[in-house]
Amino acid sequence: MCFVCTTVAATLLVTSQFAPIEAISAAPVVQKTLTSYSANTVPLSNLQKSEIQSLVEGNPEADKFICTGIRLSTASVSENLLVRKRAKAACDYAKTLNPGLSVWFQRKPTTVRSFAGKVLITVKQASNQSVDPSPPNQSDLSNHPSITNPAQLSPEEVCKTADVSPRPDTSNGFPRPSTAMVGTVSARILLVPIVFSDLPYTDADHLRMKAATDFVTRIYKETSYGRVSLSYEFLPKQYWITMSKTAAQYRLPENIPQYNKTFLVEDAFALADAAINFGSYDGVALTTGYATRISGGQGFPGVSFQTKNGVAKGVSLELGNSSGNALVMAHELGHSLFGLEDLYVFLNPSRPSVPDPVPAGSWDMMSSLGQEFFGWNKLLMGWLDTHHVRCVSNQVSSSHFIETIDKPGGKPKLVLINLSSGVTLAIEGRVSGPTGVLVYKIDTRINHGDGPIIAQKSLVSSGQQLTLEGWTIKVAAVDTSGILIDVLKN
Ligand SMILES: [Zn+2]
Repeated sequence: MCFVCTTVAATLLVTSQFAPIEAISAAPVVQKTLTSYSANTVPLSNLQKSEIQSLVEGNPEADKFICTGIRLSTASVSENLLVRKRAKAACDYAKTLNPGLSVWFQRKPTTVRSFAGKVLITVKQASNQSVDPSPPNQSDLSNHPSITNPAQLSPEEVCKTADVSPRPDTSNGFPRPSTAMVGTVSARILLVPIVFSDLPYTDADHLRMKAATDFVTRIYKETSYGRVSLSYEFLPKQYWITMSKTAAQYRLPENIPQYNKTFLVEDAFALADAAINFGSYDGVALTTGYATRISGGQGFPGVSFQTKNGVAKGVSLELGNSSGNALVMAHELGHSLFGLEDLYVFLNPSRPSVPDPVPAGSWDMMSSLGQEFFGWNKLLMGWLDTHHVRCVSNQVSSSHFIETIDKPGGKPKLVLINLSSGVTLAIEGRVSGPTGVLVYKIDTRINHGDGPIIAQKSLVSSGQQLTLEGWTIKVAAVDTSGILIDVLKN
């Protein structure tokens, strides 16, 4: 059963579909940028109202009024939201002046800092076939004529492959495990300190934990395009759990690879005060104090723990030097809330080394030190919609526009090539130095902890190409709006 799956559509942070852009006709089109806004204001100033009034009254034949909030191409989620609100407020006001107007508001990126934060008004008549209401100097590869029509691509379902490995609690494919959160979620997480006589949890630990949870909350909000809201609650000191055994008795200082600590978690919940209603939380983060001699964390996807007061779910555990480590905490939530797999290779005495222990590189939080997720993982978590994904299976040649994966917005972000059952090639845009294309292979035949995603070490830049698995991926062009890619079957 899915415990927190809201079905509220995430419309706020996803740019609406733009009106189709055709040739600019000879009939006049009026464009004006409203006077600058002060600070982070949204309501129109009297001057801005009079500018809109002049446009409405000065163009009585006009029937379309387009308000474009201009943001820097590198803008944060909050800045994106701000310009969208400004654009909406401008169009709402125009509509009050002339209820017959057809109004349309949107956002567009710019690289020109002086335009950022402003609202561009475009007024046109029905006789104008259309106009590109882009801010000045905005090239836009997304309208390139070479782009393959979506009708000529394969249905998204062809590329949303099943996980063909047997493990039920984590999954690298579709459908998602029943306990994994999907889409727009608000998750309340209870942070529970556990205290050992030989591994204390102190007020200093608690202070570091506050900074770490703030960071985890922020990176999930940003990487999910605002779809994931985490809210941590800290257990008051009188309820911190004092364990009856030592950390040494739990063999924590031995740092045993892939040591399942379920029994420690069960003991902690058994010792917890009955006043704590664990059942009212979407997740529980257990943490020890900081110690350099002990390391590791563990997420418990799909596992629930009976307590004196409710069933604890979405449980994760951070130990020693992982206590207060935001990247480890974010990684464990990837398991415990979203059912994601470990992408690095588990090393242990029976497998002391492999040629590439980190086949997914640092591109993803479930691999090594990543602060972003692969587009594939974002698709698994329901943060990308159908219009963000372009699926290829047997098309000999196709061309695609993608925005980089970090950007909120409604344009495509992920090209998937279905290779066989459970095996997919993925192409996405990344900004790592210069913007380029990251290519990786999702092979669900490979288990969690055995390296189920194999990523290229470096990006493919503009003008370069890469041949992999019988496919050639060529980066035709890159600009501030995104990347144009040709995909050819060899
Ligand atoms: Zn892990």
